[in-house]
Amino acid sequence: MSKTVQDILNELPPDKYRELLGVKSANPLNEAFEKRRPDHPSAGGSMILPPLHQKTWQNQMNAQGSVQHKKAAYIHIPFCEKLCIYCGFFQNFSNEDRETMYVDRLIKQLEMAKEYRYVQESLIHSVFFGGGTPSTLSPYNADRLLKAVNECLPLANDCEITMEARVHDLVDEKLQTWFARGVNRISVGVQSFDTQIRQCLGRVDPKEVVIENLQRAASYNQAVIIVDLIYGLPYQTVEKFVDDLKIIDDLPIDGMDLYQLNVFEKSLLKKSLDTGKLPPVATSAEQAEYLKTAAEFLEEANYKRLSVCHWAKSNRERSLYNTLAKTDADVIPFGSGAGGFVGDISVYMQRDLKKYMDSIDKGKVPIMFMLRAPELASLYKDIQDQTESCGVNLTKLAKKYNKELMQLETVLDIWTEHGLFTKKGHMYRMTIAGQYWQKNITQSLIEITKKFLNAKTSINEWLTEKTMNTFKKKIEN
Ligand code: SF4
Repeated sequence: MSKTVQDILNELPPDKYRELLGVKSANPLNEAFEKRRPDHPSAGGSMILPPLHQKTWQNQMNAQGSVQHKKAAYIHIPFCEKLCIYCGFFQNFSNEDRETMYVDRLIKQLEMAKEYRYVQESLIHSVFFGGGTPSTLSPYNADRLLKAVNECLPLANDCEITMEARVHDLVDEKLQTWFARGVNRISVGVQSFDTQIRQCLGRVDPKEVVIENLQRAASYNQAVIIVDLIYGLPYQTVEKFVDDLKIIDDLPIDGMDLYQLNVFEKSLLKKSLDTGKLPPVATSAEQAEYLKTAAEFLEEANYKRLSVCHWAKSNRERSLYNTLAKTDADVIPFGSGAGGFVGDISVYMQRDLKKYMDSIDKGKVPIMFMLRAPELASLYKDIQDQTESCGVNLTKLAKKYNKELMQLETVLDIWTEHGLFTKKGHMYRMTIAGQYWQKNITQSLIEITKKFLNAKTSINEWLTEKTMNTFKKKIEN
């Protein structure tokens, strides 16, 4: 007889049980788990060795595409004009000559991709320019890159094209270049409107300029404007944070993203905190308070919750790229340091600029590493997609994969008792405490599901016939 989810939980050593399930507490917002998981939840996968990279990618990209299957493209611009002190992803400083050489290679990579059967046969529903700072590109480079994207990728009529931008770059010449080439969404890294906080982070513009530039971008009425904020920063208080939320509410923008501050080990922020140059950042309990404040403020102001960290203010905001990237869609990566996945293959492009450019010059795809996703990766993605939307609907998972997944109720009932969910029928909604611990919940749910499936003798017998056929097709392709 195969093991039940309850058997799996019973077999966990006490430490592991506490790590995965957390503890019951009168204050779940602060104490449901010992510590917050900082990383993105992952289901793992098996490494593909470098000699097989090119062949594996060619096979994958020349397989028959499916128009039913949603696709997105991610284009990475690894340059920043300034180094933000909290950054854990910085690659290169901006330099016009270097950027021009890089954009030459990026265009070549897009032209190489144009020849793939997979690209030719399918529509791209979303293109995301991320970084680094994509808005740092000069109008000349942005124009020819956007032109190449339009010419090489089969963009759907309603394709969402997002440009990640720094406030400083929201000037007429750049905005007009982006809009003329189809950019219809701008995601602006504001982090905080407070001038003192901004300057300690390495952000140059004071509050008045930030507001003025956002108003300018919105005045064109050509793109959805999204603002990113961070909570837990040095010098930040809940009062200052609420002032930021009020400014957002007054501005003619379409939505906001809210992120928790992570102090990366090698960041300048860590150094400044260790030497006492900056006042301490928020504790975990204080961070939870910020999230609670924002969730309540935005609910009262009638914002629509699109995911655990994203709110829409107007109905123009779709946040399509984020939705696609976290569900079953494919993301084709372009550029130095770009990551993506096509079918069951995850790929990460060369982060080193020189290696990236040399590889393109040799006509090779600049792959740094490659992973094959585990069996049933789509189930783990579905779990993540649900928790990202602040809920879990087991009936949906059971219908798609196997009714035995209803046994995960055992886990969700424990979390409901811990104050992380409320339950209505088979639908579980996260409380604010659940939202704060969302990464822990997602990773735990994936790990427990994996343990449950690993105890099965055959996954094939376990899947519903419909899912099995889709799964087989993916493998055949
Ligand atoms: S703009 Fe983004 S990638 Fe560049 S330094 Fe700042 S946080 Fe890092």
